[in-house]
Amino acid sequence: MYKIAVLPGDGIGAEIVPEAVKVLKLVGKKYGVSFQFQEGLVGGAAIDAVGVPLPDETLELCINSDAILLGAVGGPKWDNLPVHLRPEAASLLRLRKELDLYANLRFVKLYPSLVDSSPLKREIVEGTEILVIREATGGLYFGEKKRERKNGQEIAVDTLVYTTGEIERIGRLAFEMARKRPVKKVTSVDKHNVLESSRLWRDVMTRLGEEYPDVELEHMYVDNCAMQLIRDPRQFSVIVTENMFGDILTDEASMLTGSIGMLSSASIGGKVAMYEPAHGSAPDIAGKNIANPLATILSAAQMLRYSFNMEEAAQDVERAVVSVLDEGYGTADLKREGFKLVGTREMGDLVTNKVKGEEP
Ligand code: NAD
Repeated sequence: MYKIAVLPGDGIGAEIVPEAVKVLKLVGKKYGVSFQFQEGLVGGAAIDAVGVPLPDETLELCINSDAILLGAVGGPKWDNLPVHLRPEAASLLRLRKELDLYANLRFVKLYPSLVDSSPLKREIVEGTEILVIREATGGLYFGEKKRERKNGQEIAVDTLVYTTGEIERIGRLAFEMARKRPVKKVTSVDKHNVLESSRLWRDVMTRLGEEYPDVELEHMYVDNCAMQLIRDPRQFSVIVTENMFGDILTDEASMLTGSIGMLSSASIGGKVAMYEPAHGSAPDIAGKNIANPLATILSAAQMLRYSFNMEEAAQDVERAVVSVLDEGYGTADLKREGFKLVGTREMGDLVTNKVKGEEP
């Protein structure tokens, strides 16, 4: 029996998470595994209900679960709260820190039937499959921050700090992951020409690279990487990078997959891993049954793979997604010539029915 903490959060989180739960429930039945789901409050929803974005009960629930399924947090309603109450910093970032989820794996995979959903040309994007490993508990989002007044000016400070230990553990993970891929290559992305933290990052990555002679190591500046992702995405296999660089590059990379609604992720490192789509709470489309639930469903597939060692079931879910897309279905963000438009719930049903139909 596995205990899964379910944290829908805000905006479309409340619509997409139930679709992934639906798929997981069926997988449980099909593979004879008992999943016990327990819901927790997080983000703006938690502020509204109990006054804080990450209640102690939610943290306890996460610590005592085997895996966490998260939707998204944040939205305009909570944008002007003081920092310690902001959903993104005070719930999501804190959750990653408390659970030591230092590696956020983001799976940038373009499914063949979505080639025409991408705004980029077929000949550029076809075959794209990149694993971006974003450092998630250090870097610019976690360093000391302050605001002060000096000489009539307001000064704001964010600090980008890394230790060798933090870089080594994420770097090692990148090399290990690259070893298991068809193209054994790691692109380490930094801003070595300007930032001291990047110079340490590059030193550590270069040193680590010597331990992995079978994996090609390449260093790339983050600005160049932003351009190369659009120019020639197939040159990449594994990208490893600092927290904010990874945040920004993966939103850009999501367009290689057709839509940000396709980008799944797994946050790993500690005892309990967390699975969530890479996108946010999309307040502009929330409550309309039009959000794409596939990034969340594909994140649930990663949960089966990484947390429960259920590779066959993970592939079963991924095949179901491919098959639904191949039949021409899509939510509004997956618009392509002649596609069959479906809503969030219908997409969840289509995937669930496919999983049901296939023998393990
Ligand atoms: P967003 O990712 O929520 O939305 C960006 C755009 O992508 C919007 O047009 C949205 O409609 C679209 N989109 C996102 N997910 C989609 C899906 N599944 N299907 C179809 N379209 C989708 O980013 P944003 O608008 O910059 O942020 C909205 C809120 O979410 C903010 O409060 C932000 O802080 C928060 N946020 C949370 C997370 C998280 O919880 N992991 C991540 C990013 C942003």
